[in-house]
Amino acid sequence: MKIDQTKIPQATAKRLPLYYRFLENLSASGKQRVSSTELSEAVKVDSATIRRDFSYFGALGKKGYGYNVNYLLSFFRKTLDQDELTKVILVGVGNLGTAFLHYNFSKNNNTRIVMAFDVDDDKIGKEVGGVTIHHLKDLEKVVDPEVTVAIMTVPQVAAQKIADQLVEAGIKGILNFTPARLDVPDEVRVHHIDLSVELQALVYFLKHYPG
Ligand code: ATP
Repeated sequence: MKIDQTKIPQATAKRLPLYYRFLENLSASGKQRVSSTELSEAVKVDSATIRRDFSYFGALGKKGYGYNVNYLLSFFRKTLDQDELTKVILVGVGNLGTAFLHYNFSKNNNTRIVMAFDVDDDKIGKEVGGVTIHHLKDLEKVVDPEVTVAIMTVPQVAAQKIADQLVEAGIKGILNFTPARLDVPDEVRVHHIDLSVELQALVYFLKHYPG
């Protein structure tokens, strides 16, 4: 079935990797079908939302049967480009960047950090988690034109300048782990993950909305 991806709402699209990861685990354990209630409990999204999300891709659960796990998986694999390896670069091999290089998403999907960048001469040329660290000034020289996603784990003060360099080098998506709000052209997408803000929000919710 051909899906017009522009018709999938962004909120639904954001939940796809979550569904995908859970379904992969289900499939690995040999399960062939799943109900929206089971999915709902596992991924903590209410079942009406799951049914609506799935209806966008023509996956209609049958009463008393649920959804076919393999059908959903093959759909998600295609939609999330999981059939192909998505190559990503990382800028800033400090504590956080080092942790990502060791983790390198190998357990859950087909995204791989293939190159890292820094400006610290002591780090250039070394490997972390099997990934070589290059100097940021060589970005355009060494990066493969098919790489369009970058993870940024640099100090906040350096973030905007690096974002400009990344855009210049053809990067279209930035996962920004710095607290800086980045100014980028409209066609570039920034997803911002500020761990300290997330943690503060969690503490606030626990305090003010217990239970
Ligand atoms: P973190 O836990 O955030 O990684 P850290 O204390 O290990 O923190 P930071 O000072 O935040 O290190 O720097 C992260 C990495 O970013 C370091 O490896 C640093 O050399 C690198 N870095 C700093 N400025 C730049 C820059 N302009 N371009 C690329 N990398 C940079």
